[in-house]
Amino acid sequence: MKELYRDEAVVLRTYRLRESDRIVVLLTRDNGKVRAVARGVRKTNSKFGGRLEPMSHISVQLRRGRDLDIVNQAESVSRLAPMLSSLDRTSQGMAAIEAAEQLALEREPTPRLFDSTVGVLRTIAERPSPMNVPAFYWKLLAAEGLSPVLDECVRCAESGPETELVAFDIGEGGALCRNCRSGVSVSPAALELLRAVLGGRLNEALATPESPVTHEVGLLATRAMEHHLERRLKAIALFERH
Ligand SMILES: [Zn+2]
Repeated sequence: MKELYRDEAVVLRTYRLRESDRIVVLLTRDNGKVRAVARGVRKTNSKFGGRLEPMSHISVQLRRGRDLDIVNQAESVSRLAPMLSSLDRTSQGMAAIEAAEQLALEREPTPRLFDSTVGVLRTIAERPSPMNVPAFYWKLLAAEGLSPVLDECVRCAESGPETELVAFDIGEGGALCRNCRSGVSVSPAALELLRAVLGGRLNEALATPESPVTHEVGLLATRAMEHHLERRLKAIALFERH
């Protein structure tokens, strides 16, 4: 079992193993979620420098192990610096990688999840928007076959100009009319923003300035992701406090 392999990865999290070593959890493109030991990473003269910090996008060489792989080499693909320039961006990045970590499977190739995660981290760094993380979540859920119903009542299928969709029920899978209402109330503007995210108008959605509507869609995205993952995401609690 001395097999070396190379992959591209995003560092999801790290934790201390021994005095100077860390375990790094990686989202790789071709090997799914990988746990690996980085030896000597906590020494000041470590060959890894700061490249194994969470949210780093790296090219990595690993040696396969029985439980944990070993990080042999790690080179930076894109730098983390712009991300760390603001607490808000860092929290958004953490919220993005936390969902990616929950969705990724150990040693199962996940190129689409990997590309989306790299994409959202880049967007967070380069183009701040309150919609970056909500749009990422809704796109991930849609990719899992969980697109919400937005143009008719998810329960009675009523649609048309007279139908007012006034509520959103994550368990039901979409918007509801006044007669069927359950879940939380939803504004017409929030439904329109969701249609933009999921209907091929992502740039328009990302250009939406921060408002109660972006907050509404953000909360719905968090709740829908939590519902899907059936667990509370810690980083998001942090993200929502801002
Ligand atoms: Zn209805």
